[in-house]
Amino acid sequence: MDETALIRTCVEEAGFHCLCCGACCSGDDNEVMVTPSEIQTIMDAAGLAWNEIAEPYPEWITETDASITFGWVIRRGADGNCMFLKNNRCTIYQNRPHICRTYPFMLDGSELIISECPGCKVGERTKEAEEITKDLLRRRDAEDEEFFLTKKQYQKHSIISGSTIVFDSRGAHPIIIPPEKL
Ligand code: SF4
Ligand code: SF4
Repeated sequence: MDETALIRTCVEEAGFHCLCCGACCSGDDNEVMVTPSEIQTIMDAAGLAWNEIAEPYPEWITETDASITFGWVIRRGADGNCMFLKNNRCTIYQNRPHICRTYPFMLDGSELIISECPGCKVGERTKEAEEITKDLLRRRDAEDEEFFLTKKQYQKHSIISGSTIVFDSRGAHPIIIPPEKL
């Protein structure tokens, strides 16, 4: 069995049917990583600015007295949930990022990982297994590309002492506000 068929079979066997409970869009562990191109897509669709949608990935490292992080996450609303969750529905559904399209699934190489989700094992085999498998493969490609290009950006920029920087596939972005106040 080839890789795609194997992944599709595993997705089918998960018996996944989204219950639209909103659990994956809310709560403390709701951390939706987004690439620059996904942020751009949401900006165009929602008419919002970059900073209104995304904030730096909240794990900072210190290097030569600078604070550095890699990538972006979608902002949360005052209720702590994803800012795009309204009445348990995604308000950017057609333009939601890869991570949301594929939840509760992700690929680690060729291995299918299934996160906790009340929509798994609720009945018959996953109906949308083929589409989910295609989305998973697209997500893996996009994540690999983002990782590769971000690493290149990190390698080619020198880091100014005392600065706060977000690296992504498009460059090194200095942040004026210190991380603890973001
Ligand atoms: S993917 Fe799972 S957790 Fe998310 S809304 Fe559907 S059933 Fe709920
Ligand atoms: S973008 Fe949509 S699907 Fe993704 S976490 Fe937010 S509300 Fe949920």
